[in-house]
Amino acid sequence: MQKDTEVKLTEKNTRPTSMRILVYDFLAAQRAALSLSEIEEQLHYADRITIYRTLKTFEEKGIIHSIQENATTKYKLCSDECDEHTHKDWHLHFYCKICKKTTCKENIVVQENIKGDFRIDEVRLFAKGICEDCLDETL
Ligand SMILES: [Zn+2]
Ligand SMILES: [Zn+2]
Ligand SMILES: [Zn+2]
Repeated sequence: MQKDTEVKLTEKNTRPTSMRILVYDFLAAQRAALSLSEIEEQLHYADRITIYRTLKTFEEKGIIHSIQENATTKYKLCSDECDEHTHKDWHLHFYCKICKKTTCKENIVVQENIKGDFRIDEVRLFAKGICEDCLDETL
């Protein structure tokens, strides 16, 4: 497991320090996007500043993408296509009003070949509703 993470980080031009491996493995195990505070709560043996710096590096290197949710920023691992030049996370982010989790819906995407005399650098798609788990429970 650790070996894989080292390879993944190196492929994204990021030196695999033990802190980075720790944060990466933690994020890789999450289904929902997490905020800095939520990550800090679970990785209690690492301090907030170090986690924050690690997240910033990961975002710059195309390892994670951030999701802006009102005043909170949440983070989720990127697909392999992202790199230090561009993020390709042009998919829907879905917030569940019941469990309050934000997940990536990679199957709902903005076409990349939109034609026009403009340039798109970033796309934000955000939806609110009830996720599949919570819908099941209400039945
Ligand atoms: Zn990305
Ligand atoms: Zn839910
Ligand atoms: Zn996403």
